[in-house]
Amino acid sequence: MLNGVAVRANYVRLTALNLLVGALLCAAGAYLVGTFASNLEAGRLSAAAQESLNVQAEALNGALDKYRILPVLLGHRPDIEALLGAAPASAASLRRIALTSAGMSGALDVVFLQPDGTLVARAADTFNDPILPDGPLLRAVLQGRLGRDERLLSDGRRAYVFASAVWGDNAIAGAVLVYVDLESIENNWSLINNPILATDATGRVIMSNRPAWRMGPRPDFSGPVRGGAANAMLDVPTDYLARSRALPPLKWTLTVLLQAAPIRWAGLFWGALAAALVLGLTLLVQTAINRFFAALRRSRAQRALALRLERIVRDRTRELLQTNSSLAHEVVERKAAVDLLRRTQSELVQTGKMAALGQMSTALSHEINQPLSAVKTYAQNALVYLERDRTDEVADNLKRISELTDRMAEVSRHLRNFARKPNPTFGATSIAKVIEDALAVVAARLREEQVVLIKDLGPPGLMVRGGPVRLQQVIVNLVLNALDAMAGQQQPGIFITVTSHAEHVDVAVRDSGPGIAPEVLPQIFDPFFTTKGVGQGLGLGLSISFNIVKDFGGTLSAHNAPEGGACFVLRLDAAEQDQVAAGE
Ligand code: ADP
Repeated sequence: MLNGVAVRANYVRLTALNLLVGALLCAAGAYLVGTFASNLEAGRLSAAAQESLNVQAEALNGALDKYRILPVLLGHRPDIEALLGAAPASAASLRRIALTSAGMSGALDVVFLQPDGTLVARAADTFNDPILPDGPLLRAVLQGRLGRDERLLSDGRRAYVFASAVWGDNAIAGAVLVYVDLESIENNWSLINNPILATDATGRVIMSNRPAWRMGPRPDFSGPVRGGAANAMLDVPTDYLARSRALPPLKWTLTVLLQAAPIRWAGLFWGALAAALVLGLTLLVQTAINRFFAALRRSRAQRALALRLERIVRDRTRELLQTNSSLAHEVVERKAAVDLLRRTQSELVQTGKMAALGQMSTALSHEINQPLSAVKTYAQNALVYLERDRTDEVADNLKRISELTDRMAEVSRHLRNFARKPNPTFGATSIAKVIEDALAVVAARLREEQVVLIKDLGPPGLMVRGGPVRLQQVIVNLVLNALDAMAGQQQPGIFITVTSHAEHVDVAVRDSGPGIAPEVLPQIFDPFFTTKGVGQGLGLGLSISFNIVKDFGGTLSAHNAPEGGACFVLRLDAAEQDQVAAGE
């Protein structure tokens, strides 16, 4: 596959080539077609001009031919010969003939001359035209030919003159001249749009439909007539081409001028059309080139995109695999950490319990020792009563001993329960029983410190979600903390209130102690946080309790009660009674 730079270079090269060839073809096409069309149009116009020239030449010749024969006819009339011989006496008769001939033929004038050029008679008297004896007319007459000449008359009119000899006995008796009015012929030319002119052998304009030209020198028509003096004389702003033909008997040249503009316009029009066609073709080719390269570029871009996507997918897959393996690793580590935490936590729970038991050891030994010494006393009494055979008293003392051992067994059972390792599963638990059991564990201290215990255990049979052993530990912790806080107080009091709500159950443990210092309130649930002296507190009780309650989906919070003292609220999910499944 070509790279992007090569594609671009190819595109530029092809475009430049196409445009260059297009421009060359455009110019060549415009020139060739334009020239061809101009020539075609020029040929068509030339043919039309030639046609017009022929028609006008015929018309001119025809008009003059009508008069050509008249002087010959008059010259052969014997009466005229006789009259000329009798001149000047016969001048009046000749004038009559001249008048009749001119009038009947429409000639401008009919003139009779003696061979030396002396005027004998003439029909017209409004102009004068002296005929020189050595002029071309008389010279031709004396040579026996038909004389022809164009004349500018004294009144400004132009005439064509035919001259013929009047024959005597083998000699020339005189001459007869017939003047033909050229202006009456010229009037027909006024209908012709294009300039037309007839020039004599000397190059003088004899006739023309452009009055300014008449009797002037012939303009130079060797090239197209464009502006300049000739055009100024023509008084026409457009360009002209000249076409001429000779009029042999008259020795004149007939010329028509053609408008050159149609030739140029034809060249321009067809040249432009050809250029436009070539241009269109070039643009078509360019469009094809553009399309081809656009398709090429698109396919290149798509291929590049596909490659990029492939690369991205490959990279992502690799990253994902790495992430996956590190996640799996993390999961294993986390699992191990959680197991360790669980183990540590349950060890801590045990440690906490042992700590609580340790704290209570004095009270507990009192709890055991006191009934033991009582048992001892009752047993000694029973022995004394037995010696005295007072069986009723013996029985009474033995009954008391039995009651005291029951009590000790109860204490022992509670302590065993408390020290037992909890079952990790839990279900519905009677909150009242949990509280009662916990109070039994701390009963010795409560009694010893003469604490007023006020409890409201809520509606009977109220169940919460949680394990009884761990919940008991929480309550024991809260009560022991309350007792610690109230140490040395005159009237210590603990208030345990259970309130039932729709979804949960709240257990509030409040004391009449000094409350929790506000600065330590945010930290009391932190592990190892304690305000108690060394050897007195581990700072684990609340932290363990907090985690136990959290494990059950509940919360443990602390605040200072408005009536004084600290208040811990244990919030647990409510459970149905028939769900009793506490495994602890
Ligand atoms: P310990 O009892 O070993 O100090 P705990 O986690 O049980 O650890 O308690 C942390 C701290 O919380 C106590 O040191 C005490 O400052 C405060 N505290 C706990 N209960 C109460 C209470 N009822 N009244 C006042 N302060 C309390």
